Amino acid sequence: MARYTGPVCRLCRAEGEKLFLKGSRCLTPKCAFEKRPFVPGAHGNQSTFKRKRDSNFLLQLRAKQRVRRTYGLLERQFQRYYEAAAAMRGVTGVNMLQLLETRLDNVVYRLGYAQSRAQARILVSHGHFTVNDRRTNVPSVQLGAGDVVRVRQSSRANGYFKEVSDLAEVRSTPGWLSRNISDLDGKVLQLPLRNEIDTPVNEQLVVEFYSR
Ligand code: SF4
Repeated sequence: MARYTGPVCRLCRAEGEKLFLKGSRCLTPKCAFEKRPFVPGAHGNQSTFKRKRDSNFLLQLRAKQRVRRTYGLLERQFQRYYEAAAAMRGVTGVNMLQLLETRLDNVVYRLGYAQSRAQARILVSHGHFTVNDRRTNVPSVQLGAGDVVRVRQSSRANGYFKEVSDLAEVRSTPGWLSRNISDLDGKVLQLPLRNEIDTPVNEQLVVEFYSR
């Protein structure tokens, strides 16, 4: 599946906030948003941009782009999540966030076995994980309650996975997941509740964007 391959830090600058797309680098002074907290481009530092942001449409658009970019999806892929969420029972915005959170690559990231969603996606697509003891290399696999994600036995000799437990230990997992770092695995206990999803987004604005 296609993915965005352009400069990542520009996405944070375009959204006017840190999206934490680069793992540990985002927490250092090297963060591009810390150095240049304005939209990219020759006129990015001009105040006219701030005035433009006041329209409803732009607020909705920015909210949608923020979620889409946070989860590393292209427009068509993201729109499919909205359509699936709208067809489900319950609150569309929350359904959409649940679908995004329970993607395999996001679960790997939330378990602390990757420093960013982009890295999780690469690790999954290189076949380093199993779901319920079956190898998969599809980052968009949708997980549900009871599913177990595990680093493959043959991948554990890999230098990255020898050190990943140290990296994972400093990261906490949300309440809807459990993990056993010594076994390099994790389990989905239940679908995440809205208050367990810490992605700073206003999902209602995304719903309004697609309902225009
Ligand atoms: Fe965004 Fe991280 Fe780049 Fe900072 S370092 S601009 S938070 S992706």
